[in-house]
Amino acid sequence: MERIGFIGLGIMGRPMALNLTRKGHGLTVWARRRESVAPLTEAGARVAASPREVAREADIVFLIVSDTPDVEQVIFGGDGIAHGAARGTVVVDMSTISPATTRDLAGQLAQRGIEMLDAPVSGGETGAVQGTLSIMVGGKPEVFERVKPFFQCMGKNIVHVGPAGAGQVAKACNQILAAVNIEGVAEALNFAIRAGADPRKVREALLGGFAYSKALEVHGQRMLDGDFKPGFKIRLFQKDLGIVLDSAHQMGLALPAAAMVAQHFNAQMGAGEGDLDGNSLFRVIDRISAAKEL
Ligand code: NAP
Repeated sequence: MERIGFIGLGIMGRPMALNLTRKGHGLTVWARRRESVAPLTEAGARVAASPREVAREADIVFLIVSDTPDVEQVIFGGDGIAHGAARGTVVVDMSTISPATTRDLAGQLAQRGIEMLDAPVSGGETGAVQGTLSIMVGGKPEVFERVKPFFQCMGKNIVHVGPAGAGQVAKACNQILAAVNIEGVAEALNFAIRAGADPRKVREALLGGFAYSKALEVHGQRMLDGDFKPGFKIRLFQKDLGIVLDSAHQMGLALPAAAMVAQHFNAQMGAGEGDLDGNSLFRVIDRISAAKEL
């Protein structure tokens, strides 16, 4: 039986780890803030003193932390996973980070005989709690097959996209679509309000036609309710579009719509709105719109 480790117990990591325990998998966990581990210890998980110790006690180590430097630190920092993992251990990074850095990390781990999968997720906190995440995976097919039963405890739509980094490429595509969709919903609902129509009725009408989107259904409702509680924080969305635009820059690729939304996220970070949900793009559109009624 595989021994499982889990590192990073934030909005996403905590429910994902809890779903593994609910399916009967004993876990060894580590989190930077000790209070984050409480729900896991109540569920029977063992708490390790460092990522290195988690790796010593596990055959497969999942991690879901914030950004590219965080993943590098948790894997290769002084007390990192790489220093405790035996040959044949699998490191499964479920954070959203740079595809290029992911390929580098997989290569460095391979030199130590350690396997890596990149397995970023989509579906938000609700998907993490309900165990219905989309999981997009990069890495060797045989390593994917080994980890798949554990992915099935956390997600529903689990796709092996290709070799190392391919999962992160898929996630970058996901974020382009998510950001541009939410921007579109914010603009459309703002237009409805300023043109004197009932935006709730407009949303209801559009939900049945070609303009339907999950963003219109979920985020549109929350925008109109003034509910900007995260969910997915602006600071993480800004980070993700940073990854997307940096990769596009390196490839000499134009992403004009994503670049425009990234500017709105930058403005929100400057306005102290980094901990609001991505649907708070609605507030930006409202602020930059002409005060004059149409
Ligand atoms: P979060 O609530 O901010 O949690 C991140 C966790 O990572 C925190 O527990 C944090 O510890 C830990 N962490 C960050 N840097 C660390 C470091 N250097 N060393 C050790 N621990 C570190 O974020 P989240 O929403 O769960 O997101 C996690 C990842 O999933 C991100 O890459 C995000 O882009 C991705 N994601 C999020 C969503 C979503 O809807 N939230 C959806 C899909 C993908 P502290 O508590 O000590 O800060």
